[in-house]
Amino acid sequence: MNILIAEDDPVNRRLLRKTLQNWGHHVVEARDGLQAWTAFQQGGFRMVITDWMMPGLSGPELCRRIRLNETRDDIQSYIILLTARGSIQDLAAGFEAGVDDFISKPFEPDELRARLNAGKRIVGLQEELVAARHKMEQLALTDGLTGLLNRRALMDALRRDEDRMRRAQEPIAVVMTDVDHFKRFNDRYGHQTGDQVLCLVADCLQASVRTGDQVGRWGGEEFLLILPGADVLQASEVAERCRELIANQVLEDSEHGEIRVSSSFGVASTEGADREDIMSLVQQADQALYWAKEAGRNCVKIYTPGPERHATR
Ligand code: GH3
Ligand code: MG
Ligand code: MG
Ligand code: MG
Repeated sequence: MNILIAEDDPVNRRLLRKTLQNWGHHVVEARDGLQAWTAFQQGGFRMVITDWMMPGLSGPELCRRIRLNETRDDIQSYIILLTARGSIQDLAAGFEAGVDDFISKPFEPDELRARLNAGKRIVGLQEELVAARHKMEQLALTDGLTGLLNRRALMDALRRDEDRMRRAQEPIAVVMTDVDHFKRFNDRYGHQTGDQVLCLVADCLQASVRTGDQVGRWGGEEFLLILPGADVLQASEVAERCRELIANQVLEDSEHGEIRVSSSFGVASTEGADREDIMSLVQQADQALYWAKEAGRNCVKIYTPGPERHATR
């Protein structure tokens, strides 16, 4: 373990360091509370052993600072207070400051080892918990088939990016795409091949955007691209790049030979338009996508207001 020790008495400090090092721990020493606080802020300490009485900053004060700086996402450090003060009031004050455990001075190596192990167990459990929470959050936002953002994550991203772009007074564009005649793939080649096609399309979309852009599965065989800062021309260029890449793919099927796929695209941007709810932008892209299907599929259409004035690339 990486252990931070804070002790103003040089003899005690050396003894503590040697003992911990002999057990294989990596130790950083601080001569007083303030030095410990500085070292702690460099990060990486899950275990802190601190003296109570120190010049500058006492053990409980150091502990209070550490706790104040911990957020919900942090793994809390385990803090052991070394003390000669053993009254009930002292213990209560230490716990109040956020201390996890006490060791009386001078320390007994067996006791120190036992308390360290207890602390290590607590830190380990927290690490597992944080990792599990992180994984759950990832799963809740990811489409299981393609690994892209799912609809919920897309909605979050849309709101976040729209807010950011609005403040920066920059446009935001969305591109909606829908695989052409996808039902036929399923009917002819089976659902497994259908799923393969979806993954292929997902990869093409992902490969065609810049960092900062977002790609997700809106539902079924529909995907949405979020392009912060893009005007309608830039967005339609991205859509065209995606369209071409997808149309050039050949899926090898052992039973049916070469399978080709295409997708239709609808583009909408807030550029030059009154900014309404972000969902109306998605609806506009969807409308343009409908025009692309009408126009014969495998093409890109840009949304423009008015029933018949939709632009063609
Ligand atoms: P169009 O060119 O007009 O879009 O025709 P289409 O056949 O793609 O349109 P339609 O909406 O009629 O069909 C979509 C099909 O997508 C229907 C559904 O069975 C299939 N589908 C939706 N989600 C999945 C999936 O996760 N896996 C597979 N294999 N198929 C899916
Ligand atoms: Mg002291
Ligand atoms: Mg569809
Ligand atoms: Mg379709």
